Amino acid sequence: MRRFADPTRQALADLAALFARVDRAHGGFSCPNRARCCQFAQTGREPYLWHVEWQALARRVAELGGRLPPPRPDGGCRFLDGEGRRCTVYDVRPFGCRTYGCELAEGLTRSLREQVRGFTRELTALAERFDPEDGGPRPLSRWVSEAAVHGPRAGEVR
Ligand code: SF4
Repeated sequence: MRRFADPTRQALADLAALFARVDRAHGGFSCPNRARCCQFAQTGREPYLWHVEWQALARRVAELGGRLPPPRPDGGCRFLDGEGRRCTVYDVRPFGCRTYGCELAEGLTRSLREQVRGFTRELTALAERFDPEDGGPRPLSRWVSEAAVHGPRAGEVR
């Protein structure tokens, strides 16, 4: 694997490689793509992100012009598209979005759940290497609120 001199770039490359394995493991998993899991106000749930996961999202926001999407009137994730059907940051979406299992999904086997537990441990190790001060995953809405005040890449570790 290519190694980067920039520790943030290296951590993001390692995160992307881990997420590729997570996605492959979910190859037999079927989601009806209704973005129900992205409707935080309706579900009362939202993904929790480590700092390194937020950095992946923050870099994407910077690439897209640096402006965070505005709050949605339906209380859904700000990264949904206008119709509230599709994720606009799909390739860098957090671990929780990749592994969310709702009642509409099919193919969530016990072995997949065990694999997800293993991936969770790998993500934890990666996140703690990236930012030893990271106190643990925090809700996406909290990262977004802080970024709205301090800028999306506030607190970046170099
Ligand atoms: S980041 Fe994307 S997949 Fe995750 S909750 Fe937001 S819109 Fe949905």
